[in-house]
Amino acid sequence: SASGDELLAVQGVSKQFRGLKALDDVSLTVAAGEIRGIVGPNGSGKTTLFNVISGLYKPTRGRVVFRGTDMTGRAPYRLARAGMARTFQNLRLFGDLTVEENLLVALDRSRTLSAWRYLLRPLNVLRRDRALRRSATDVLHRYGLTQFASLAPKSLPYGIQRRVEIARAVAADPALLLLDEPAAGLNGEEVRQLAEIVRSIRDSGRTVIIIEHNMGLVMSLCEQITVLAGGRVIAEGTPSHVAGHPAVIEAYLGD
Ligand code: ADP
Repeated sequence: SASGDELLAVQGVSKQFRGLKALDDVSLTVAAGEIRGIVGPNGSGKTTLFNVISGLYKPTRGRVVFRGTDMTGRAPYRLARAGMARTFQNLRLFGDLTVEENLLVALDRSRTLSAWRYLLRPLNVLRRDRALRRSATDVLHRYGLTQFASLAPKSLPYGIQRRVEIARAVAADPALLLLDEPAAGLNGEEVRQLAEIVRSIRDSGRTVIIIEHNMGLVMSLCEQITVLAGGRVIAEGTPSHVAGHPAVIEAYLGD
């Protein structure tokens, strides 16, 4: 069904690693503007699903349709260019660049000027660099990172590094943001700030899919939750619908 506001459709996706079916006939659709939660016990296939959606893994079967286009097996950079960004369980920042430089790298990718415009109008380069710096300043401010702009991420507290990673992903101006366990290692106050950040990202017109073990966060943040177990979707619906599901309880207790 090609609903008008359907941003992402995962259709019958399986991913096999030798003998192991990490994903087994997984289908789900995510509407534009939604905050979707993906939960399930360790090893249930959540990260593998993100890897298939974002092009890191080619599925053994099935399709990934993004913004109406079949993107199955496309390289990650092509999915990024089509409007998808993600964060990883383990931070992947440029540890030796400054926070501002990390953002500039992402902003730069989101505003590619054609070679022709460089050649024809050298001034465009200067204008563009100024615009990039202004955007970086804006992102730093929005994410409360201004005071850390000239510092290296690796010198900062873990919670701040997580925020930098999300800011960097959003700086690429994605329609869809995939967050892989963004609350891992955060304290209570940082989790509250994370929830605010994710809501503001959605309110700026983006769609968010979030893998998360912090069940309180998932339940308060997500409109729809997909529950994976053993590589299959075993439940899906509103927080209250899935709350009593055995696999959700297992994931919760497993923490
Ligand atoms: P989750 O994110 O829910 O903890 P994963 O998607 O990481 O689960 O893993 C699902 C299953 O697939 C696990 O059994 C895991 O060991 C396996 N798996 C994941 N990635 C690979 C890989 N690259 N090669 C082999 N097995 C993998």
